[in-house]
Amino acid sequence: MLVLVVNAGSSSLKSQLIETDGKVVSMKCLAEKVGTDEACMNISFAPDFQKVRYNAVGMTVAQCLGKLLDVMVDDPESPISGLSQIDAVGNRIVAGGEYFTKASLIDADARAKLSLCEELAPLHNPAADACIDMLMELLPGTPQVAVFDTAFHATMPPKAYMYPLPMRYYEEYHIRRYGAHGTSHRYAAQQAANLLGRPLRDLGLITCHLGNGGSITAVNHGKSIDTSMGFTPLEGLMMGTRSGSIDPAIITYIMRREGKTFDEMDEILNRESGILGISGTSSDMRDVLEAASKGDERAELAIDMYVYRVQKAIGGYYAAMTRTDAVVMTAGIGENSADLRERIFEGLAHMGMILDKERNQFEGAVGANRIISIDDSPIRICVVTTDEEMRIARETDNLVSQMGD
Ligand code: AMP
Repeated sequence: MLVLVVNAGSSSLKSQLIETDGKVVSMKCLAEKVGTDEACMNISFAPDFQKVRYNAVGMTVAQCLGKLLDVMVDDPESPISGLSQIDAVGNRIVAGGEYFTKASLIDADARAKLSLCEELAPLHNPAADACIDMLMELLPGTPQVAVFDTAFHATMPPKAYMYPLPMRYYEEYHIRRYGAHGTSHRYAAQQAANLLGRPLRDLGLITCHLGNGGSITAVNHGKSIDTSMGFTPLEGLMMGTRSGSIDPAIITYIMRREGKTFDEMDEILNRESGILGISGTSSDMRDVLEAASKGDERAELAIDMYVYRVQKAIGGYYAAMTRTDAVVMTAGIGENSADLRERIFEGLAHMGMILDKERNQFEGAVGANRIISIDDSPIRICVVTTDEEMRIARETDNLVSQMGD
């Protein structure tokens, strides 16, 4: 089945065209910094994946998708010559609330429920929604599937997902923890089980998705039992531009002191905080590491805080599990930054997570799933490459195939 995977973020669009039968990727697209003066798109096709860069200034995320579809029809390198050759679309949706506990076909009922979920992921869901609209117009009749970041966490028990607020907020507004990055955590857990050569159902894993957004999940016997993101993707770790968990009283304090509106407060917590807020220069870990290496003290503090918060979260999930076989590192920082991995695990050796520094640094292994702990580390440490797009394509294929049964 030829599946177009659409992963729309607040200021980015990732898309791939995947033939699910052979797991073959034939198109990759990445639009970044959408909404800024530096917005651009890179589109490439198999077999060489030579990137062609397009200007995306002044375009929305959905318009970037429209442009991608134009290029896919017109470019001689493209594997398709018409959009009707696409069998199905798999959309990544960050928040599915309590309405969606698994992937769902997007019909009128699902769309109505999706609109109720928008405020749970104010940075992401609206962009995905606009993309779905665009696809309904340009690919009428092609089945679209929503694959939810929250669905993997539907197995969390009430003690993990409830907040200690008056019960009526849960009963009336469904205020509870939903988690996010579920597609990535599920995939990382399965990849780690493959690496360890044991069935996922026998393992206790702590999966760490450390990218621009970040979250950590306790995966017990293949099921999420707790995760660091909450009602929205703002809770938990310190992230690129998100604060993660802070004392909630700070919010009302700043609002009173500076007369901030709700929207302004949202903006501060979601887009001006985290690594960017502390470093003052960038939300991108590579930039901050570079600045720190030149003696920038704020960059160094941002890294120290980031590492410390990840360490505390891993420790917290260790306590939440009945056994821990491995800690799994994935996403941009988790996969690529040997330095940060070393700093994180330096503080965790006493819990039995003992890094092998050489294996950790081994450059030749970048991009490959591997174990980076010493041989007799009581808890293994794994690095796995996240592949959310492939997972979304497979879930889409499963659901659309069932429709024909
Ligand atoms: P993601 O959201 O998974 O694409 O991850 C993006 C984050 O990963 C950004 O903060 C990048 O700076 C970071 N990242 C990517 N490669 C590296 C690297 N080699 N070293 C440190 N951070 C990296």
